[in-house]
Amino acid sequence: MSATVLVVEDEPQIQELVAVNLEHAGHRVLRADNAEQAERSIRGELPDVVVLDWMLPGESGLAFARRLRADARTRELPILMLTARAMEADKLAGLEAGADDYLTKPFSPRELVARIKAVLRRRAPQHAGDRIEVAGLQLDPAAHLVTAGERRLELSPVEFRLLHFLMTHPGRVYTRSQLLDQVWGDHVYIEERTVDVHIRRLRKALEPSAHDRLIDTVRGAGYALRAA
Ligand code: CA
Repeated sequence: MSATVLVVEDEPQIQELVAVNLEHAGHRVLRADNAEQAERSIRGELPDVVVLDWMLPGESGLAFARRLRADARTRELPILMLTARAMEADKLAGLEAGADDYLTKPFSPRELVARIKAVLRRRAPQHAGDRIEVAGLQLDPAAHLVTAGERRLELSPVEFRLLHFLMTHPGRVYTRSQLLDQVWGDHVYIEERTVDVHIRRLRKALEPSAHDRLIDTVRGAGYALRAA
C-alpha cells in the first residue's frame, strides 16, 4: 500500500519518527509543524490521510480537525490524531471533532503504521493494498495484476487505477469529475471526457473475460461498478 500522508506535528523528534516509519512502510510523507502550514500544504495537494497532533502551537489539532470536517473539499479526509492525553473524555472530544482514530503518545511506530492502514482501509480502501475480487475478477495492487481465473488481463497504469478505485467502491455512482479527483489526483486539470476515453479502454481490456459488463454507464450521472 502506498498513500500520501500529511504529518502535522510540532515536536521535531516525533515528526521525524513518524515520517521515517511511514516512509519505510512505503508511504509518501508531507510534513507540517502547525495547522497553518498544514492548511497551506492541503491547499496545494490533498493528502490521502492526515496524522494530526492534538497539542500544536497556535490552533490546536482538535480545532483544525473540526475545520477540515466543515470544508467540502476535506470533509472525507481520513484523520488519525496523536495525543498525549489518555483520558476518555479527551478521546471522545477528538472523535467528535471528526478524527477517524487516535493514538496516545508514546506509541510504537508499528502500531502507528497498522492504524494508518486500518484508517485507509475504512475510509479510502483503494490505498489499503488489499487484494480484491468482484464477480470473479481479481485485482492485486501489490503485484499490479488483474486476473480472471487463469487469464491475465492487460491494463495500462491509468486503467488499473481506475479499475482499482471502482472495485473498492462497488455499487456507487461516480461523476467524471469525482473520478478525475480520485484516480488522476486532486488539482489536476484534465478534460472530463478523458474519463470516457479511459472507461472505454478499460472495458476493452476486460472484454476477454466478459467483465466489461461490470462497468455501468449511468446516464447523466457517471459510472459505477456493479456490486457482485
Ligand atoms: Ca505537540
